[in-house]
Amino acid sequence: MIMKRFNALVLTFLIPLALGATSLIPSSLGGDSNLRIPITPRMPRTPLVSQVPVSNEEDGEGRVIRRVLRFGQSVAGLLEGGGFSPGEAAEAVVALGGIMDMRRVPAGREFLITQDEAGKPVMVHISVRYDSNAVLRLTQEGWQAEEENIDVYPVPIVVRAEVVSSLYQAAVDSGIPLSVMMQAIDLFSFEVDFQRDIQPGNRIVLLYERILDASGEFLAAGDLLYARLEVNQQRVEAWRHESLDGLVDYYEDSGDSVRKALLKTPVDGARISSGFGMRRHPILGYTALHRGIDFAVPTGTPVKAAGVGTVVQAGWHDQYGWRVKLRHANHYETLYAHFTRIAPGIRPGVPVTQGQIVGYVGSTGMSTGPHCHYEVRYYGRPVNPASLKFPPGHQLEGDDERLLTLEIQALKSEFDLD
Ligand SMILES: [Zn+2]
Repeated sequence: MIMKRFNALVLTFLIPLALGATSLIPSSLGGDSNLRIPITPRMPRTPLVSQVPVSNEEDGEGRVIRRVLRFGQSVAGLLEGGGFSPGEAAEAVVALGGIMDMRRVPAGREFLITQDEAGKPVMVHISVRYDSNAVLRLTQEGWQAEEENIDVYPVPIVVRAEVVSSLYQAAVDSGIPLSVMMQAIDLFSFEVDFQRDIQPGNRIVLLYERILDASGEFLAAGDLLYARLEVNQQRVEAWRHESLDGLVDYYEDSGDSVRKALLKTPVDGARISSGFGMRRHPILGYTALHRGIDFAVPTGTPVKAAGVGTVVQAGWHDQYGWRVKLRHANHYETLYAHFTRIAPGIRPGVPVTQGQIVGYVGSTGMSTGPHCHYEVRYYGRPVNPASLKFPPGHQLEGDDERLLTLEIQALKSEFDLD
């Protein structure tokens, strides 16, 4: 799989600008824009079926009529309008059910009905996805359906944009599909605080695939292959890599994954003294949700930030004692409580790196002895740190690391990414 992509980069060639990719490039960035648009030979997995010709011409082989599913209309009703008998329409709907969810065919879906010379329907093409059709055919055994893949071309393109007001606006202005921009933001949110750090003049470079059909029509945004954000004199980068065992993720040059997991244990050498879940509160006496995990460790043990983030609270709380709360990427927060003291420099608004010391274990607030109370919140709700589901941060090794290096070299030279 990897070598396929790698070869694809080497075997690129130019296609005419008539494909419309020019419109992606904001004219204000003209000189800086990278307009080389290679076609990769990465083809659909199954034999190709070309587009259905739409024609109302009588050409001796029947004609194709176009029907669009109206709101509230059934597929059977549409087919009957296209010349099916009620019995045939019912049979066709059953056949289609093996390919499409017939209860959820959205209004607006297009049906191309091929009729024979006598005006009797013999074939129907229905768009299922941008790269596949469902095809109904009249056979000896009645109406039968199968799925056909459309010939699609992933075409990588580089777009460089400057932030004028917001990343959202930068995407709109430079024609970057919003889904691609959102993916880049999601990746960089491990390094960049988007609420605080993004300023006018920041630059973003995205290399992504546009999925085109054989006539150059844009069908969908494909994979994001590379993303770079220049913010605060800092450059953050993410390279897509599919590992030899098939896992797709994004990496820095070094082979470290861009996604950084939160630490499940923010203190070294700790023993869990109280887990996450319902328990009888040791001081208050009643049963309540224990919103975090308690790690029994001696007073003064340093407590580490579980991930890159920003301090949102650092101070006294009647129950938590001296406590620190951090905000992380993707709506995660972590909270550390009962410190004997907060680490120097830790105050609201300050950025922290993963592993940075935020405080020292104590027994302040409502506590029966020295321990670190560690909470993870997702969208403000406590979750069990021991069962965090997001992918762990990891580093590529061996062949995967070497392949990543080759892929980066190829992309850099192909798309002038330095
Ligand atoms: Zn606790």
